[in-house]
Amino acid sequence: MMLEDEINVFTTMSFKPSISPITESDEELERLLSDPGVELPPLLPSIAFATGDLSFIPPDIRLDPSKTLEEQGGLTPDEQSIIRVRALEGLKQLRDNINIKPVTRNEDLRTIMSWACGTNLEGSYLQMMMEELAPGDRDLRSPDWNVQDFSADRKFTVAIVGAGMSGILAAYRLKQAGVNFVLFEKNDGTGGTWLENTYPGCRVDVSNHVYSYSFMQKHDWPHYHSTQDVLLNYFNDCATEFEIRDNIRFNTSVSAMTWDEDSSTWKLNILTSGTEEIFSCQAVISAVGQLNQPSYPAIPGIENFEGTSWHSARWNHDYDLDGKRVAVLGTGCSAVQFIPRVAKKAEQTTIFQRTPNWLMPRPQYQQSLPESLVWCFTHIPNYHNWFRLHLFWRSHEGLLSRLEIDETWEDPGDSSISAANHELGVLLRMYLESEFADRPDLLEKVTPTYTMGAKRFVIDDGLWAKTLHADNVELCTDPIVSISSSGITTESEGLKDFDAIIYGTGFKAADFLMPMTVTGRNGVNLHDQWDGDARAYLGIVAPNFPNLFFLYGPNTNIVINGSIIYFSECEVHYITQCLKHMLKNQLSSLDVKTDVHDKYNERIDEGNRRMAWGLSDVNSWYKNASGRTAQNWPFSLLEYWEQTREINSDDYNIV
Ligand code: NAP
Repeated sequence: MMLEDEINVFTTMSFKPSISPITESDEELERLLSDPGVELPPLLPSIAFATGDLSFIPPDIRLDPSKTLEEQGGLTPDEQSIIRVRALEGLKQLRDNINIKPVTRNEDLRTIMSWACGTNLEGSYLQMMMEELAPGDRDLRSPDWNVQDFSADRKFTVAIVGAGMSGILAAYRLKQAGVNFVLFEKNDGTGGTWLENTYPGCRVDVSNHVYSYSFMQKHDWPHYHSTQDVLLNYFNDCATEFEIRDNIRFNTSVSAMTWDEDSSTWKLNILTSGTEEIFSCQAVISAVGQLNQPSYPAIPGIENFEGTSWHSARWNHDYDLDGKRVAVLGTGCSAVQFIPRVAKKAEQTTIFQRTPNWLMPRPQYQQSLPESLVWCFTHIPNYHNWFRLHLFWRSHEGLLSRLEIDETWEDPGDSSISAANHELGVLLRMYLESEFADRPDLLEKVTPTYTMGAKRFVIDDGLWAKTLHADNVELCTDPIVSISSSGITTESEGLKDFDAIIYGTGFKAADFLMPMTVTGRNGVNLHDQWDGDARAYLGIVAPNFPNLFFLYGPNTNIVINGSIIYFSECEVHYITQCLKHMLKNQLSSLDVKTDVHDKYNERIDEGNRRMAWGLSDVNSWYKNASGRTAQNWPFSLLEYWEQTREINSDDYNIV
C-alpha cells in the first residue's frame, strides 16, 4: 500500500518549537560536531529532512538493529567520521541558506526514516514509526473525525477520571474531535503521578525524549532523564496549551459509577469539598493510573511505631532528617532515587532490602545534556524529532527479545532463559562486580539470583553503590519480623531503633480502579467480576461495563521497551474510534463480548508465561495475588498499535 493512501503527513497541523538560526563559523561547527556528546545517528536524517537533499543519507552506512544498546547506535569510528564530515557540509548549507527545499514527499521521508531505523520501513511499522517521529512536529494521531460530522444535536458527554498523563491526553483528543467532556481530578492540579510524587531525587527513569507525547515533543529537555518538577511543568504546560483546563473540575473525586440501562448513561457519584452530586454522561474514560495508591507493608505492629513515618508518594517535606536515625523499607525504583538524598542528611540510614534489583547502567542518568547536544536541539531543525525516533528505535522491540524464554536454552546456572538473556545478565553482573569490587559482603547482598527481567530494572549511574559504601548507611537483608513503638525487629539481628521510617514499598498496582465502586449492566460489580484479577480486552474494555474505557488498564504496562505514553496514545486512539463508531451509527452502547474478551486474555496469559516475569516467582508488582501477570503487555509495541487501530464491531454487543 502506498504511504500516501494511509496518511498525508504534510497537511496536518504542527506545533513549532523555536529553533535559532545557525550563525556559527565553520571552525565552531566543526568543534561542536567533534564533541562526543552529539548523538550522531539523528544528525544526517535531520539535515536531509531540512534541506530536502537525500544525498545526506549515506548509502554505505547502515545502522544495525542488533546494536541498539551500543554507543552511537553501534556505528564504527570510521562511520562516525564520515557522518561528521557530511553533517558539517549540511550545517553550512543550512546556515548559508543554500538550496534548502525541505522534504515534502512521503516517499522521501520513508527513505530517510528507513536509514534512521536501519531497516526498510513499510506497512504498519512505517506508519507507527511515522507517528512517533511526528515529522515537523505534526500531530499524526489526532482524530480523523469530528462530532459535527455525525450528530451534532445528539447529547453525548464523556467523563474522564484523572488529570495525569493519560487523562490530559484523552481530554485533548476529545476536544479535537469536538466531543463534550468533563474531567474530574481529585487533586488541585494536573500531572497525576508527577504531582503526587515529590520525594527528593524523583526523576523519570526512561529517556525523557521518549517519555513525552509524540505530538508535543520538546526540544529543550534539560536532562536525559528530567526531574519531577520539569515533568510536572511539561504536563501542566500541555494541559494549558491543549486548552482543556476549563473542562477540569479539580478537587473532585469520583467515588462510584453506575450504569443505567434505561437511559444508557453512567451516573457518577462525585464529591467536591464535601458536597456530593450525581453526574450523568454517556461514556466514561478512567485515567486513574496503576501506580498511585500507596502500598504499606503488612508487617505486624506497623501501627505502633511512635516515630514519624511516611510513604515515598506522600513525602513529608516538613520533617528535618538532620541528625536522625532513618529506616527505609524497599529498594525499588522510588527508593533507589530518594535513599541517596536521605543518606546525605540523616545521621544513620538503614535500608531494609527484601529483593535486590538488576541495575541497568546509564552513566548519563542524572547528567544535564552536554552543550554540543543542546546546540543541536536548538539549532538544527527537527533534530529533536529524529533524536526521539532514534531513541524509540533503540529502546523498542530489540530489548524485549532478551526477556523471552527460549525453550531450548539450557540454563548454565544463572537463571537465564535464553542466550540473549544470559548475555545481558553477564554484562549486568559485571557492572555490579565492578561497582562493589572492594566490598564482597555488599556484592553478595545486591546481586540478584532471579531471572534478569522478572522485575523492573533499576537505572543507575553509580550513585547506588556510592551510597551503600557510605559509613552512615547500612544495608540490612535480614527479614523484618515486626515493627514496634521504637523501631524494627528483624529475624536474627533483633530490634533496631529509629526516629523515622520511610516506606518505599510501592503501590497497589493490581487494584485497578480502586477505591471506586463500579456497577455495570445487571448490577454487576466490577471488583466482584475481577475478584482481584483484573482483565480487559486490549486493556481497555471489560464485559458488562458498556461505554466504560480504561487507560493504563490491565496488561498495558511495558517492562523494557518503549514508553507508557506510547501505550496511552494507542489506547486513546482506540477509544476515540469506539466513540466515533457509536456516534456515526447512532448507537447507545458498546459492550465487549465475553468470548472475545476471554480469548484475548488467554493469549495475553500465554504471552506472559513466555516472558521472564511470567516464569519467575520473585516478588514484583507485575503480578497480582493469584500469581497472574495482570499488569504487563508481553508482545511487541507494533502489535498493540495494530490491535488498537480500528474497532471491530463484531467484538461488541451493540445497542
Ligand atoms: P516497587 O518497585 O514496587 O518497590 C517496592 C519495594 O518495597 C521493593 O523493594 C519491595 O521489595 C519492597 N517491599 C514491599 N513490601 C515489603 C515488605 N513487606 N517488606 C520489605 N520490603 C518490602 O515500588 P516503587 O519503587 O515505588 O516503583 C514502582 C514503579 O513505579 C516502578 O517499577 C516504576 O514503574 C514506577 N516508578 C517510576 C519512577 C520514575 O520513572 N521516576 C520512579 C519510581 C517509580 P520486593 O522487591 O521484595 O517486593
